[in-house]
Amino acid sequence: MKKSIKKYNQAAKIVLYLAIFLFFLVILFSHVGNKRHTLDTPQNTKETSIQNISKKTVLYISSYSPSFKTFFQQVEGIQSQFEDLNIILDIEYMDTKRFYTDENITNFYNSLSYKIKNLSPYDAIIVADDNALNFVMKYKRELFNKIPIIFIGINNIENAMMLSEDPYVTGIVEVPSIAETIEIAAKLNNKATNVVAIVDNTNSGQADLVAYYAQEENMPNLTFKEMNLSNLDYNEFASALQQLDEQDIVLLLSAYSDKTKKTITFDEGLSLVVDNCSQPIYHPYYHGLGYGILGGKVISHYEEGSRAAAIVIDIFSGKDVSQIKCEVDDSKEYIFDYNIINKYAINEELIPEEAVLLNKPQSIFQIYRNYVLSAIGILTVQLLIIFFLIHSIKEKNEVERDLLESNQSVMEMNKELKNANTALNENYEQIRVKNKQIKELVYIDSLTGLNNRFSMFEIIDQVINCEIIEGTMAVLFLDLDNFKNINDTHGHDIGDQVLEVIGKKLKQLQDIDDNIEIGRFGGDEFLFIIKNNNQMQQIIDCVEKIQNLIREPIVTENEKFCITSSMGIALIAKDDNRKELIKKADLALYRAKKLGKNTYVFYNNTIGIALNEKINLQKAIVEATFNKEFVMYYQPYVDAKTHKVVGVEALIRWFSKEHANISPFKLIKNAEEMGLIIKIGQWVIETACNFAKKINQNRENKLTVSINISAIQLMDNGFCEKITRTIEEIGVSPEYICLEMTETILIESIENGINVIEQLKHYGFKIAIDDFGTGYSSLKYFEKLPINVIKIDKSFVDNIETSEYDGNFIDFIANIAHFINIKVTVEGVERQKQLQIVEEKGCDTIQGYVFSKPLSENEVIEFINGQI
Ligand code: C2E
Ligand code: CA
Ligand code: CA
Repeated sequence: MKKSIKKYNQAAKIVLYLAIFLFFLVILFSHVGNKRHTLDTPQNTKETSIQNISKKTVLYISSYSPSFKTFFQQVEGIQSQFEDLNIILDIEYMDTKRFYTDENITNFYNSLSYKIKNLSPYDAIIVADDNALNFVMKYKRELFNKIPIIFIGINNIENAMMLSEDPYVTGIVEVPSIAETIEIAAKLNNKATNVVAIVDNTNSGQADLVAYYAQEENMPNLTFKEMNLSNLDYNEFASALQQLDEQDIVLLLSAYSDKTKKTITFDEGLSLVVDNCSQPIYHPYYHGLGYGILGGKVISHYEEGSRAAAIVIDIFSGKDVSQIKCEVDDSKEYIFDYNIINKYAINEELIPEEAVLLNKPQSIFQIYRNYVLSAIGILTVQLLIIFFLIHSIKEKNEVERDLLESNQSVMEMNKELKNANTALNENYEQIRVKNKQIKELVYIDSLTGLNNRFSMFEIIDQVINCEIIEGTMAVLFLDLDNFKNINDTHGHDIGDQVLEVIGKKLKQLQDIDDNIEIGRFGGDEFLFIIKNNNQMQQIIDCVEKIQNLIREPIVTENEKFCITSSMGIALIAKDDNRKELIKKADLALYRAKKLGKNTYVFYNNTIGIALNEKINLQKAIVEATFNKEFVMYYQPYVDAKTHKVVGVEALIRWFSKEHANISPFKLIKNAEEMGLIIKIGQWVIETACNFAKKINQNRENKLTVSINISAIQLMDNGFCEKITRTIEEIGVSPEYICLEMTETILIESIENGINVIEQLKHYGFKIAIDDFGTGYSSLKYFEKLPINVIKIDKSFVDNIETSEYDGNFIDFIANIAHFINIKVTVEGVERQKQLQIVEEKGCDTIQGYVFSKPLSENEVIEFINGQI
C-alpha cells in the first residue's frame, strides 16, 4: 500500500512539474508579448453598469482625416465605452489639416447641415480638436442648439475654458508633458548639457515656451535654450539646426512661421527640422511621430476618446452638462519610434517598460502568440487535471500539511501586497504634485504675466466665499477703447507690445496694493477684484487710479500711444455668485461703452433689466428663426402718373405673442448683432423670390419685388453666389428683383473697394439706395454707384406740406437722378396732400399708406388683381 502511494506520488510530481513548467512558459511568453503594447491593442476599461440608456446618437467631428493615426485612436477610445450600450456613433471629418480653405469648410458645413436637417437631432457631439471646436461653436446655434458638446484634443486652454462656460459645453484640454519628455531625453542621452526648444511666435508655441521655461529650475544640470523660428528665415533656421550636436536635446514645440511671416504646415516644419538636425527630436505631442521624430511622453488619444465618451454616458445617465467641469488631461504615455531608436543606436533598456514602440517588427512568436499561448494553456489544464486525479488518492494528512504550507504563503503574499499598496500610494502622491505644477502653469497669462482668467475665477470664488459686507468689495471689468484700431493699423505685434506694457503697469499696481487682484481676461479685457474696501469713495479712487494709469502714454519699440479705457463695476453683495458678478460687471462695461467710452459705470438693476430683456428677445429671435415663425408681407408701390402697381417691397413680420410690439427695425437690428441676419436674410430672399416668380407668371406688365439687404449679409463671403444660386434654383429672372441697401452700406462698400454690388448689378439685379438723404448724401458718389433707383426717405415727406426745404430737396435729387438715368421713388406718403406735392416733383414711383399698407401675400395679390 505504502509503495503504491509512493508510486502515485512520483507520477503526480512529474505531471505537476510539467504543468508548472508550461504554466511559467505561458506567463513568460505572455509577459514578453505584453511588455510593450502596440497601438493596435488598446485596453477596454469600460464598466457597463449603465445598460439601460435609451437609443442615442452621438456625432464625432474631427478636423483631421482618417489618414491620421490619432483619428482612429480617438474613435476606438470612444467606441470602447459605447460598446454594448444603445449608442450609435456617427463620424464626420473636415479634413482641414490637408485643405485649410474656406471652400473646404463651406463644403463641409453644407454637407453637414444638409444631413442634420434630414436626421433626427444628435444627443451629443464629441469634438476632436481646436479647429473642429471652432467650427462647432460657430454654428452652434444653427446646427447644435442645446446639444451637449464635449471637446478633446484641445491645445488652446484659455479658449476651451472660456467656451466651457457655456452650459452645454465641456471637455478635456491637453497640457503637454514637457518635463517628462525632457527627463527621458536626458536619460537616453547622458552627454546632454543643453535643451533646445524649437518654437515660434504662434500662440500655442508661446504657451508651450512658458511651460518649457517653468521646468528650468527643476533641471539644474541642463541649460535651457530656445531656437525661435519667428526670428529667423527658413534658411537661417536650417543652418541653426545644423549646428546642434550631441550635447543638445532637441525639443520640437512649434514651427509654423518664420520672420517673414511666411507660414508652413506642421509637416513642412517637421521635414525642415528632421532633414537639418543630426540629433534625435523629441516632441510632447503625438502628431509627427512615425515621420522622423523619436518620441516623448505624449497624449494618449485612445484614453482621451474614452474619457470623452464616459462624459457622454454620464450626461445620458442624467448628469447636467453645466455641472461637469472642464478637465485638464493627464493621460499621457511614452511613445517612441523604433526606427529612430535604432537610427541613433539608443539603448532600448533605458526606454520605460510601459512605453509604446511604433514600427517595432513583431517576431513569428508575437504574431502567433495567441495560438501558442492557447495550445500551451490547454495542455497545462489537461496535465493539471491528471495531476489532481493522482493527487486525490494521497493520504489526508499530506493534504493537511500542504494546506498549512499554502496558508503560510498566502500570508506572505498579503504582506507583499501591502508593500505594493504603499508604493502605489507614494506614486500617486508624486503624480498629484506634478499635476498641481502643471495646473499652476495654466494660471498665468503668458503675454502680460498677470493672472489669467481662471486664476481670477478662483480668486473671485475665494473672495465671495468669505464674509461679505455689502458694497465694500467689487469686481471690475476693463476694456481698452478702440484697441482694435491699433491691431488693424499697426499689426498684432505692436498690439501685443501695448498689452505687455499695460500688463506691466498693472502688475506694479498689484504688487504695491494687497487689496487688489488683477488679471487679463482675454484680448484687451482685464478683470480686477477689489477685495476689501470700507467706503464707496475708495472703490471710486481705485477705479480712477486704474483708468489714469492706462491713460499715461504707452511707448513701444517705435510708436507712442495714448489709450483710454472703459470700465464696468459690480459691487459684491451677499449670495452673489461669480458668474453673476462677472456678467453684471460686463453689462455695466457695455453701458460705459454705449455712453461714449473713456468712462466707468456701476452696475445697477436698470442696466440689468434692460439688457436682460435684450437677451430674452435675442433668444426668442433665435427660436423664431428655427421654428420658422416669420412671415413675409408686401407693400405695393405705384407708378407716379398712372397709380398702377409696378412693384412690391418685401417686409418681414413676426407675429409673436410675447414680443408682439417688436418692430421689424428692432428685429433686424438684433438679428444683425447676433449674426443671425444671414440665415433670416436668406429666408427673406427665398420667400420673396418665390413670390416674384408666382406673381409674374402669366403677367404682361411684370412687377418688381424689392428685398432689403443688410450690410452684414453683403459682407458675408459668397453672398453673390448664394443669391444667384437661389434665383436660378427658383427659376426667376434677376430683372424682377430689386435689392435695397442703405446709402451707408453702398458707400462704405465702394470705399473698401468691394465690387459685390457691381457683380450683382452686372448679373441683372436692380439696385436701390434705401432711406436716401439720411446718411452721407454725398453727391460725389452718385456717378460711381452702380444703382438703378433712389428711394427718398420718408422723413422728407413727413413735413413736405409745410417745409419748402424738403420739397426742394426731392425736386433737386429727382432732377440730378434723371440726368444720369436713375429712377426715383418717394416712400412714406400717407396723406392725399403729400401725394399731390410729391407728384409735382417729377418722381417715378410712390410708396406709402396713401395707397396701401404692407399686406399679406394673399391680400397683396388681391390688391394687385383688383387694379386691373
Ligand atoms: P424700410 O426699408 O425703410 O421699409 C419701409 C418701412 O416704412 C416699412 O416699415 C413700411 O411699413 C413703412 N412704411 C411704408 N409706407 C409708410 C407710410 O406711409 N407711413 C409710415 N408711417 N410707414 C410707412 P417696416 O415694415 O416696419 O420696416 C422697417 C424697416 O425694417 C425697413 O425699413 C427695413 O429697414 C427693415 N426691414 C423690414 N423687413 C426687412 C427684411 O426683410 N430684411 C431687412 N434687411 N430689413 C428689413
Ligand atoms: Ca426698404
Ligand atoms: Ca426706406
